[in-house]
Amino acid sequence: MSDIQSLYARFLEYPKISTDTRKIGNGSLFFALRGENFDANDFATEALNRGAAFAVVDKQDLPEHPQLIRVPDTLNALQELAAFHRQQLGITVIGLTGSNGKTTTKELVRAVLAEKFPVFATEGNLNNHIGVPLTILAIPAGTEIAIIEMGANHQREIAALCSIAQPTAGLISNVGMAHLEGFGGFEGVKKGKAELYDYLAASGGRAFINQDNPDLIQMAEKSGLKNLVFYGKNNDAFTSGELITADPFLKVRWKNGGAAFELQTRLTGAYNFENILAAVCIGLHFGMEPEAINRGLASYEPTNNRSQLTRTDRNTVICDFYNANPSSMRAAIDNLSALSAPHKTAILGDMFELGDSTAEKHLEIGRLAAQAGFEQLIFIGPAFSAHQGELAGLFFNEPAAAATYLEQEPPQGSLVLLKGSRGMKLEQLLPKL
Ligand code: ATP
Ligand code: MG
Repeated sequence: MSDIQSLYARFLEYPKISTDTRKIGNGSLFFALRGENFDANDFATEALNRGAAFAVVDKQDLPEHPQLIRVPDTLNALQELAAFHRQQLGITVIGLTGSNGKTTTKELVRAVLAEKFPVFATEGNLNNHIGVPLTILAIPAGTEIAIIEMGANHQREIAALCSIAQPTAGLISNVGMAHLEGFGGFEGVKKGKAELYDYLAASGGRAFINQDNPDLIQMAEKSGLKNLVFYGKNNDAFTSGELITADPFLKVRWKNGGAAFELQTRLTGAYNFENILAAVCIGLHFGMEPEAINRGLASYEPTNNRSQLTRTDRNTVICDFYNANPSSMRAAIDNLSALSAPHKTAILGDMFELGDSTAEKHLEIGRLAAQAGFEQLIFIGPAFSAHQGELAGLFFNEPAAAATYLEQEPPQGSLVLLKGSRGMKLEQLLPKL
């Protein structure tokens, strides 16, 4: 038996994978991964003491133990195991990437397909070189369609995730100004994301594609991918639609063939229109009835701080502090502008991972927000604060200082947008609003 086959035999016996000794389950298969701060090889014995059946390790000088499985590289072993497992599963896998809206679209697609199929999707945001293999290894027996979110911040990452998840179909939600640093600018983002199209082109898969997005069309052409299912505003798309209102929740009319269907969602943010249309398109492609598609979409209510409308005692807050980049900031600012409310406040935190573009992009977004004419504009973080002289608004270097201010001067009866990169931890401001 090859190494991977013997590891697979262990996995079939002990299918619960664990990488965290604090959350270990009895009889799990522990993978000792090396992180920035810790080397989990050092916790392998602890994992076994806590009930792991076996621990997969790659540190050579660990003492002999019958429950240790030694491999040259634990992360590689995890990825190879996932790829091997994926090959055994004769299921449909939808790979989902893009600069913005991956998780939201994934949840919408899950909500739709779950009305007809046994589906499984990435939990939360487990979308990287560790999350994707863990997701694949967690697919329960009986699953017919798996929806796998793939994130990336540099070249070849999506290609690597594709070789693990082996998608039979895919969707790139969009390409935007995200992770510019690692990708090397916008052209780099397009190239990096197009690796999903390249994989599908080479393996005979198909892509669901936004007809209104010229970047995506160009990327598909370049990769030679012909098997395309279109959604968009135009009637000639397989799934077409229009936004009736996004104030404050999206209402959409979508069409398939001659018939039109109306859908009231619980999502806010006009930018979600294309995410919704993508989910409808995928549902239709898999032969679902319009009523079932709408039932799934209508039932989806975000609880993940993405496009989530929360009423506090004093204000209505658009909780969008899960992440931020110039493209999603722009979308969120435009959205706040478009919503009807007598008073509006924008609280914007720094956007990370912009490399050389940091100063330029913060100034650009700062100007956009200033021009929007919101009653109150608060910038938080050193990158925004560097433009204090050029922008009108209140500036704080960190959220704690903004919290102190908001405690004394809280907005009242305002529609508040709260958005910034994950590392800004803007959630700590919510109780002050
Ligand atoms: P991550 O890279 O953190 O995994 P993601 O791609 O999964 O992000 P979501 O978490 O779904 O994206 O959404 C994050 C934010 O991106 C949303 O709250 C919203 O501000 C913005 N966003 C979502 N969809 C779009 C879209 N289609 N176009 C532009 N911005 C969008
Ligand atoms: Mg995500």
